[in-house]
Amino acid sequence: MTARAMVSPDKVLVLNTGSSSIKFSLFGGASPELLLKGRIENLFSGPTRFVVQDGANHPVHEQAWPEALDHAAGMRALLAFLDARTDGHGLRAVGHRIVHGGALYSGPQRLDEAVLAALEELVPLAPLHLPHNLAAVRAAMDMAPGVPQVGCFDTAFHRAQPALAQAFALPREITERGIRRYGFHGLSYEYIASRLPHADPALAQARVVAAHLGNGASMCAMRAGRSVASSMGFTAVDGLPMGTRCGAVDPGVVLYLIDQLGMDVAAVQDLLYLRSGLLGVSGISSDMRELEGSAAPSARLAIDLMVYRIGRELGSLAAALGGIDALVFSGGIGENSVALRAAVCRDAGWLGVELDPVANAGELAGVARISAPTSAVSVWVVPANEELMIARHTLNILDGIHG
Ligand code: ADP
Repeated sequence: MTARAMVSPDKVLVLNTGSSSIKFSLFGGASPELLLKGRIENLFSGPTRFVVQDGANHPVHEQAWPEALDHAAGMRALLAFLDARTDGHGLRAVGHRIVHGGALYSGPQRLDEAVLAALEELVPLAPLHLPHNLAAVRAAMDMAPGVPQVGCFDTAFHRAQPALAQAFALPREITERGIRRYGFHGLSYEYIASRLPHADPALAQARVVAAHLGNGASMCAMRAGRSVASSMGFTAVDGLPMGTRCGAVDPGVVLYLIDQLGMDVAAVQDLLYLRSGLLGVSGISSDMRELEGSAAPSARLAIDLMVYRIGRELGSLAAALGGIDALVFSGGIGENSVALRAAVCRDAGWLGVELDPVANAGELAGVARISAPTSAVSVWVVPANEELMIARHTLNILDGIHG
């Protein structure tokens, strides 16, 4: 036995695979601690690029290919890098972010052929994301045989919601075909729920509304760390306006687009997922930074509409909770946009939200409170960290903690 083989593998590789990229994080130790993170981007379109940083954001590796790599080739490059870097990849397990677990999975799941077959059945529920997630699982299984693979679902956290919160007012035979509210960004909300009691022990039992505001955006009502309701429903296009997604529209709009404007399914999908939201309203960009820097009235309108819809959802989610004790901002916009947080908190004054403008505009590190000491509702910024949540789940599954 070589010295290398005697070292017991302790690393967890976390993968978040989309249509054109593989994002990864490598964690080590029991805590677990972030060692490396990076992404392989421009899969399928090329030129494919691979960049890696260490846990302190210092660049450690960069590589590019003139051609377009697919998921399997990207995964091969990633594992080869880890092999070379860590003298044998040293992987104890791979944890995958998987967009949909349907009504079946209410927690992380060890992945095998039977589970993969069940997940294949769910592809029609998330055709834009799930096939890519599953391609990464298959590639990792092939290339690292014997390394356990664990699936962590964006929907799982919301399975604890009351039945009413998961229901559409549709006939039973439609519901039985899986057409119900699932909710997404669950790993982000679960991470937020795990962090809040460390910041203030009283929050462990509190009524919390969290807003995950990134390119995708949603809000979730939580009581005592469990999801009670969410703004996203059957798909991740519902709820708030997002970077390029419309959020909630009257379903009659979709019928009108088809019936009166002659759009087919692909055209409607393209409109609602890729040409709406901040981009569609502003006509300028899906990127909040760019809109905040623009003097164009349409950029202002796009931001105002997002703030307005966040306020409306906040009222709805507070109603589902019967009140609110804390409001949380997360995701690229929630963590960084001082102006958006200020506008949302201004509009939420009726709920007892009172911002501390100095704290809001200050340098925030980790979980930070930005409300005034007198605020009836505490307001927090929690940096999103779905990857750490997945690493923890993966270790817990291996250690039998999830049963
Ligand atoms: P994803 O959902 O793809 O993970 P992120 O969570 O990284 O996306 O969020 C991306 C969004 O965050 C973009 O709209 C970007 O403009 C916004 N953002 C990032 N930094 C800032 C900033 N300093 N001010 C305002 N918005 C920001």
